[in-house]
Amino acid sequence: MPVEIKSSDLIRLEVATQDEADNSLKKMAKRLKKEGIISTYREGTEFFMLTQRPNGDCYFLHPHTRLCTVYTKRPDTCRDFPAAIGTRVGFCPAEKK
Ligand code: SF4
Repeated sequence: MPVEIKSSDLIRLEVATQDEADNSLKKMAKRLKKEGIISTYREGTEFFMLTQRPNGDCYFLHPHTRLCTVYTKRPDTCRDFPAAIGTRVGFCPAEKK
C-alpha cells in the first residue's frame, strides 16, 4: 500500500531537516526523489509518497525479516493505521471482506 507522509515524518525519520523543510519543500522533495526515498510530492497538499520497492513493499520494510526498519521513527500514517486511511477514517482494508 502506498504510504503518504508529511515533512514532519521525514524529519522524524532523519532523512530531512527542519531547516530544509522551512527553506523549500519542493527542493527537499527533489533531493529525496533523487535519493530514492520518495516517489512523488504534491505541492498542493504537501504530501510526499514514500517509494515502493518493485514488489510493492515500503522503502523501509526489511526484505527478509519483513519488519519495519524505522519502527520507532515510523510516519504518522503507519502509527495511525488502520484508524485513519485517506478520506475513509476508520476504514480497514483487512476487514473489507
Ligand atoms: S510501518 Fe515501516 S515498513 Fe511499514 S509502511 Fe510504515 S514505514 Fe513502511
